[in-house]
Amino acid sequence: MTKEEFIEFVHHQDLREFLGVGDSNPFRCVFPDHEDNHPSAGILTSTDGIKQVYLCFCTAKPLDIFDVVQEIAGCDYKSAAQYLNSHYNVTITD
Ligand SMILES: [Zn+2]
Repeated sequence: MTKEEFIEFVHHQDLREFLGVGDSNPFRCVFPDHEDNHPSAGILTSTDGIKQVYLCFCTAKPLDIFDVVQEIAGCDYKSAAQYLNSHYNVTITD
């Protein structure tokens, strides 16, 4: 698939399943530098009904799956995309 199709594909994946947080809302923030003793994290579905975003008290804005991987791993966008690429085992033909 192309790079654009890959981004679209990843945005359609289940963020809850990816993070292993089950169905609970709110849950404890998964980011390593956020000591979330009173669970504040949640996953919401965007208005188009497809894309899921991550929200918690430590994030100033809703994060998509690429942002979430960058937060957890402390890496840049390119590394996050490479990680998701191999995680979902897709080939980019761009
Ligand atoms: Zn947090």
